[in-house]
Amino acid sequence: MDFNKQSILIAGPCSAESEEQMLQTAQVLGKQPVDILRAGVWKPRTRPNSFEGMGTPALKWLKKAGESINKPVATEVANAKHVEEALKHGIDILWIGARTTVNPFYVQEIADALKGVNIPVMIKNPVNPDLSLWIGAIERIAHAGISNIAAIHRGFSTYKKTQYRNDPMWQIPIDLKIQLPDIPIICDPSHIGGKCEAILEIAQKSIDLEMNGLMIETHINPDEALSDAQQQVTPAQLQKIIEQLNFRKSDEQSIANELNSLRNKIDALDEDILHFFKQRFELVEKIGEYKKEHQLTILQLKRWEKILKTRTQWSENIGLNADFTKKLLEIIHNESIKIQTNILNKNEQGNK
Ligand code: PEP
Ligand code: MN
Repeated sequence: MDFNKQSILIAGPCSAESEEQMLQTAQVLGKQPVDILRAGVWKPRTRPNSFEGMGTPALKWLKKAGESINKPVATEVANAKHVEEALKHGIDILWIGARTTVNPFYVQEIADALKGVNIPVMIKNPVNPDLSLWIGAIERIAHAGISNIAAIHRGFSTYKKTQYRNDPMWQIPIDLKIQLPDIPIICDPSHIGGKCEAILEIAQKSIDLEMNGLMIETHINPDEALSDAQQQVTPAQLQKIIEQLNFRKSDEQSIANELNSLRNKIDALDEDILHFFKQRFELVEKIGEYKKEHQLTILQLKRWEKILKTRTQWSENIGLNADFTKKLLEIIHNESIKIQTNILNKNEQGNK
């Protein structure tokens, strides 16, 4: 499998549920520009008593489905036994899931089971935002002699509520690209977004960031899916997403260099900064409501002086120009006052 192809598309259900489902899926996906058919047969579920996959028998369905459309098939392996079973059934590509990448013992066990076999392996980022752990897993698999390796970016778990199921933290895959420029990165917008509506925008972003492909969970009947129902698209929806994506032209691609990677990183950081501002202003609104309720003044000089003092000190501590921080704080403070004045006026008007 050539992961370095300009853009690779992996599609298929979260889980192989039956032979019929797999064959039907293949039949429709075979008519689309899909390069690899995916399906999980062992599903690592967060809570017990959830559907944990159909296990080894499902490997046959997956392989048969792939053969029916002449496409390679991929499944997730989480231990040596899975590797053994998958190889026995002629699975073409393996991937290591996010919950396995976190554990070097498991990754090493998989790497040991792969010694002497040259099969393409895709390694999902760990659930926690730890770039070294991701790189470590890639190294363990590479040291086992696997030469065809891709990384899959599927976002990171956070306790705080975010827009998506898993926070993409784009700067992490960008850093991976800077540190390991030869490892292609495939984006999994299904597990990042957690909902079908988010897939297009996440997929487009990954293309804009020069990632090398997409893995999109596709189910012939998502409403009835036994796992990840909300994020699986139908083959028709997949087709629509692919048509709407804007792939860059190849001359633009050729300027992909370190400068671009750095700019991409800046873009990702700017987006994060704006999200932080948004969160900060939401708190400012809450405080505005509180001040209104308790008849406090908007401008509280002591607090403002303390903010200026602490932030300029923090800036100096990390080598950031304190003057810059002061100017930035003034802009933020003005905006905060505006927000709170609006809250106060709105309430007062309401009382009239
Ligand atoms: C999957 O691809 O179905 C899966 C379980 O993904 P992840 O390891 O990213 O949670
Ligand atoms: Mn899934």
